[in-house]
Amino acid sequence: MDYQLLYDVKNTVVAVLYLVSAIFFIVGIKRLAKPKTAPSGNFIGALGMLLAFLTAFVDFGVIVDVDQEAIVSRFQYWYILVAAIGLGSVVGVWSALGVKMTGMPQMVAIFNGFGGGASLLVAGVFYQFELFTEGANALLLPMLIATVLSGLIGAITFSGSFIAYGKLQGIKLVPDKPVTYTGDLVVKGVLFALLVALGVMMVINPDHLLLYWLIVFGGLLLGILLVIGIGGADMPVVISLLNSYSGLAAAATGFVLNNVVLIIAGSLVGASGLILTMIMCKAMNRSLVNVLFGGFGGSDTVGSSDDIYEGKVTSTSADEVAMILDTAQRVVIVPGYGMAVARAATPVRLLTEALEKRGVEVVFGIHPVAGRMPGHMNVLLAEESIPYEKLLDLDTVNPTFPQTDVVIVLGANDVVNPLAREPKSAIAGMPILDVDKARTCVVIKRSLSPGFAGIANPLFANDNTLMLFGDGKAAMDDLIKAYKEV
Ligand code: NDP
Repeated sequence: MDYQLLYDVKNTVVAVLYLVSAIFFIVGIKRLAKPKTAPSGNFIGALGMLLAFLTAFVDFGVIVDVDQEAIVSRFQYWYILVAAIGLGSVVGVWSALGVKMTGMPQMVAIFNGFGGGASLLVAGVFYQFELFTEGANALLLPMLIATVLSGLIGAITFSGSFIAYGKLQGIKLVPDKPVTYTGDLVVKGVLFALLVALGVMMVINPDHLLLYWLIVFGGLLLGILLVIGIGGADMPVVISLLNSYSGLAAAATGFVLNNVVLIIAGSLVGASGLILTMIMCKAMNRSLVNVLFGGFGGSDTVGSSDDIYEGKVTSTSADEVAMILDTAQRVVIVPGYGMAVARAATPVRLLTEALEKRGVEVVFGIHPVAGRMPGHMNVLLAEESIPYEKLLDLDTVNPTFPQTDVVIVLGANDVVNPLAREPKSAIAGMPILDVDKARTCVVIKRSLSPGFAGIANPLFANDNTLMLFGDGKAAMDDLIKAYKEV
């Protein structure tokens, strides 16, 4: 057998298959951009991942030894099949099937964390392996720099993601409000500088293995300090940013292993996570620096809920709302997190159909951060086959509110909170849906409890606001019944 030829063929096939999986990733991400093509985009991305995994299996596991004229296996295949593919698939399928739509950000946070953790472990173990087998002098500068970056970014992503998970999941040990203290910026700054210095030391003295694990330990601490200082409505932005970090850590590990597909996939995740972060910052009218160091989501300085609500809230009934709807020409429905919790998307469709049957124009006002994950409302409404063209974004729907007869705010709170227009409020500057400009605004929710940002909402006390208190689904069912009877 010509082992040189075999060696060349194996390397070429591996390179081509890596390239094919990278193409799958790119096509997958492209298709994710539109709701219609998103499911197939997801599937294509998963296929790319399977192909990349199998190719890496051959790449690293099957070695053609030209000198010894032999094909050798480097792996304990049993462990990989059972521990990596078997156990990993079981955990992945189990968590994906079990997660509720409203728990999606937490799940994304955990997956980001595992991505960062895997990157730092793979890079660290590879560095250790090379150090022991080839010696410190054989380690190249780019590989060492990439190892430091993977360890640092991977560790920040790992611990930061778990803190984000704890905050979103309401785990008692992790305070959901931002934890700030005097000099916190200095503490984080000094720690970061220290970690950079350790990184430089490791690159200069690669035989000091301990330095790598010190960087990892410091990175874990920095991840906790960075995310613990953030809270409230900024959490989705942080998760998106951590997603980007997990991609950067993977790309750095790709450089350590000299693995093309990991570099490409990591860069794609890094770039798309950063783009999503910027889109979300824009949706909240915040700068990234402000999100990371501003301590948003804490206490509000604009009035207490007693001052805002006392004696000013008008509650209504399904019958009264049905009568108002009977005279309406144009209705805008603004869904929020409460629609998801109440599983009220089906009655929303039924009411829409009933209104349209009587010639009423119905559209939906969709805020980019309504619900608990980007695109949350779009997904729920798409599941009800509500046409995409009826889902209007902020810029399109806002100018139309003054010509709208009735707005139905279903389980939304922060995204319609006019306090965002007050410079001193905790959500100052966040663009909102201007539902208060419509002729009548009906808010369906169970109580006057605040939303995710934890602040009162003066919309509920407006003269043209009617509160229909109750569970989202039950209230919508009553409303449909009452509307059909008028
Ligand atoms: P909010 O969290 O501001 O408010 C939701 C409201 O739904 C609550 O005030 C609650 O009031 C009501 N609600 C809860 N359960 C029910 C129910 N069964 N029936 C009726 N109402 C119910 O939601 P928004 O969608 O307005 O805003 C989203 C917030 O979440 C923003 O602050 C955003 O930044 C943040 N966020 C967004 C993410 C994203 O990516 N989209 C991810 C994570 C956070 P009551 O208890 O009185 O019923």
